Amino acid sequence: MSDSLKICKGLVTLLFLTLAGPASAAKPFTEGMVTITLDDGWTTQYTLARPELNSRDIPATYGLVTRAIAEGWGGYMTLTQAQTLVSEGNDIASHTLTHPDLTSLTPPQLLSELRDSRAWLETALGLPAVPNLVVPFGLQNGPVLDVIRQHYASSRTVNAGRNFRDTVVYDLRANDVARNVPVSAVQGWVDQAILEKSWLILVFHEFTNGTPTRDTQYVTSDFEAILDYVQTSGVRTVTLSEGVALTERRTHPDLTAGFFVYTDGLQNGFANWSWADHSLDETNVVHSGTSAIRFEPDTWNGLMFHHSGIDLSQYQSLRLWVHGGTVGGQAVRLVLHDGAQVLGSIRLDTALGGAIAPGTWQQVTIPLASIGASTGMLQDIYFQDDSGTDQPVVYLDDVVFLPN
Ligand SMILES: [Zn+2]
Repeated sequence: MSDSLKICKGLVTLLFLTLAGPASAAKPFTEGMVTITLDDGWTTQYTLARPELNSRDIPATYGLVTRAIAEGWGGYMTLTQAQTLVSEGNDIASHTLTHPDLTSLTPPQLLSELRDSRAWLETALGLPAVPNLVVPFGLQNGPVLDVIRQHYASSRTVNAGRNFRDTVVYDLRANDVARNVPVSAVQGWVDQAILEKSWLILVFHEFTNGTPTRDTQYVTSDFEAILDYVQTSGVRTVTLSEGVALTERRTHPDLTAGFFVYTDGLQNGFANWSWADHSLDETNVVHSGTSAIRFEPDTWNGLMFHHSGIDLSQYQSLRLWVHGGTVGGQAVRLVLHDGAQVLGSIRLDTALGGAIAPGTWQQVTIPLASIGASTGMLQDIYFQDDSGTDQPVVYLDDVVFLPN
């Protein structure tokens, strides 16, 4: 796609945003921003990425696994190297003591991972404060977040998307730049951040000058190309701490409009367990805000959004918007599941009272009582192909449980 076309598309999206109104209020910053985060504390971040960042005067945020440094784990930075990052003006975030799945820990283990890693960084690196957490695997839920809020000013996930002034700072979105992500894709994300004045956080892990052998390795020359693009684009570069300071520091989602499953990205602790071909960051066909869900409902494949548990008795209905793409008529089944059994299920065309229409957004409201799901602890929401065949792409947006 040519640059002018890309800009045209962006303008169309902006125009649509204006027309679509405040269904999902994403407040822009004064300008687009990019943050480079480097997770885990790999030696190659120090030896290969750091010189490229330094030569361009781009400060980064390093999310360090503290026991790896303290105990000298192979492949990780030394304490002296971590101290050098600080003296060179970089931002340091905690990435816990040992990089566990925080949702699997006992309360004392969780407390130790969060509190002791921060304390170690403050002491070992001579930092007055380490306010930000990079969540291992991006996995957090309500009980974990309760403890994170007590010890940190923000937490960064690996849910794709961009951040806005009113983004909940304990649910910061970040785009993972894994081995297979081309430079051009990252350039597109930077362009989008500039256009919509959002905050793009990029995540890198290891670096290599050769051919990557792991998904988490990125080719150094491609990293250089990304940094060059960031510089020539003129986008503002900020550290995680600087970016958080420019937000409204919202700590909790606004639930008055309902309990969102998805709007611009997964919300409220939902994790993406989907196995269908899909994107949670579709930007060309969007109902409101900046992004929608695109998915291929083929051969029983589905979207699956997992939660630690939602008491459905608090809600009267599930509302969402569906767009049939160019063709429409897809057979897609919504299933609410408690992890052991189906709580309720309905096809979207049945709920609509007619086929999913092409070329337009339609609102679907499903009273939970109508599908026998007015009680129960929801864990999984599925949108699944109900045809067993190859169907055209369908789009979803603004999936929300409406309170009683
Ligand atoms: Zn990590």
